Amino acid sequence: MIPVARPVLGEEEAAAAAAAVRSGWVAQGPRVKAFETAFAARVGAGHGVATSSCTTALHLALLLIGIEPGDEVVVPSLSFIATANVVRYCGATPVFADVDAATMNVTAKTVARVLTPRTRAVIAVDQGGVPVDLAALDGLGLPVIEDAACAIGSTYRGRPVGVTAKLTAWSFHPRKLLTTGEGGMLTTSHLGWAVRARRLREHGMSVSAADRHATGSTVLETYDEIGFNYRMTDVQAAIGLVQLTRLAEIVARRRALAQRYQRLLDGTVTTVADPPHGETNYQSFWILLDQNAAIGRDALLALLAADGISARRGIMAAHLEPAYAGCGAKLPATERLTRDSLILPLYHEMTEAEQDRVVEALTRYL
Ligand SMILES: *Cc1c(COP(=O)(O)O)cnc(C)c1O
Repeated sequence: MIPVARPVLGEEEAAAAAAAVRSGWVAQGPRVKAFETAFAARVGAGHGVATSSCTTALHLALLLIGIEPGDEVVVPSLSFIATANVVRYCGATPVFADVDAATMNVTAKTVARVLTPRTRAVIAVDQGGVPVDLAALDGLGLPVIEDAACAIGSTYRGRPVGVTAKLTAWSFHPRKLLTTGEGGMLTTSHLGWAVRARRLREHGMSVSAADRHATGSTVLETYDEIGFNYRMTDVQAAIGLVQLTRLAEIVARRRALAQRYQRLLDGTVTTVADPPHGETNYQSFWILLDQNAAIGRDALLALLAADGISARRGIMAAHLEPAYAGCGAKLPATERLTRDSLILPLYHEMTEAEQDRVVEALTRYL
């Protein structure tokens, strides 16, 4: 079976995790701090706050900008459902914007269409790794949170994704390029936000458990606001530190394989590509079937599976799920993309022979 994805994990990650275990400190501690520093430096952000997931990082980002019940936050429906759910965690309402068909991302135009007097913020997603045009969204005059769950190693206008956003959320789930098993990060240019996010992720504590331990003397913490347990562990951070050293190689390999897919599928089907304003890490190599294709997407997935090729449906659309029934959104581009797109296998150790098998099967069925 050719898998759709496979994380890059080796002996170095195993040794780093073992060293964290042997150190006797496995909860959030010095390795989390080191990972935050190294990660923020890699994406050119001022501060990194490690979290238990991208979902929890997004929740913290919304709290930092003061999202409350009654507020509206514009999000793409065409995204993993967490992008919408975090708005509901704040008691606010996600309002779904359509996307541009070439990038699968929201644009200033699609967001502007759904603004109301209650709109307080936008969550812009770098879908599948394709960088969203953030500068265009800045013109709307609203706080923009970047959901860069998929976009570690992608670039925007020649610089790493994450440099320009005030608040960026990242995921280290194994389906993403860089993994810590589960895990996430919030990066920000604003020191005050980083300090408050660190407090909120650890029960609202004035001094973290790790810092109290490090002082060696008695420090009594206070709990200044209602917080959460959104911590990452030192075992995860140890793995993340090794993964960061592999990132450049992982992105280069994915881009080479993606460009080979593009060459081999040219003229057969529409594929994801770099947008004019940046470069994708090709976290998701999606193809879009013609609306009058001889074969539907789900039938094609079944045929590929029978051939030992594990492809996946394209990005989901939250507004079509029962959890958001009744939201009333009408999003033609989103509905077409979620219906007719699929994600092809692409992973670091994929061989050209495996890729040829995928292309051969696809060409035969299309
Ligand atoms: C994967 C993903 C998330 C959720 O990430 P977790 O770390 O699993 O919480 C959120 N948004 C997008 C766009 C994603 O792809």
